[in-house]
Amino acid sequence: MQCPKCDGDMPVKTYGRLITINRCVACQGIFVKPDVLMEMKGEWMSEVLDMGDRKVGKELDKMRDIDCPECGTAMDKVSDTKQTHIWYESCPSCEGIFLDAGEFTDLKYDTFLDRIRDLIKGRQSKKK
Ligand SMILES: [Zn+2]
Ligand SMILES: [Zn+2]
Repeated sequence: MQCPKCDGDMPVKTYGRLITINRCVACQGIFVKPDVLMEMKGEWMSEVLDMGDRKVGKELDKMRDIDCPECGTAMDKVSDTKQTHIWYESCPSCEGIFLDAGEFTDLKYDTFLDRIRDLIKGRQSKKK
């Protein structure tokens, strides 16, 4: 997988049994699926996940119109409803989420996870 922001390599990282993410070796951006984020709820693992340089993350956060590193679909810029200074990319096709370095610590846990929960719920109701 290649980083949609800086073209760095994004090797798969596995933590425990259920958590698999892709992290860019260059900018430390993270690509993750909503289900995995829910698994991470118990152990937020900020020390593992948020090891990027926040300044780099802020710079890259200005980038727009990136394509999903997994399926190539143009990703949507989504802002957190309660924390509108925070933006992340979400893929409308495979539901992958791209977070810049530092965004994890910025995101308030509950609000963000509520959103992810809605995402998963939305997907399940679509299936019916
Ligand atoms: Zn990168
Ligand atoms: Zn995708």
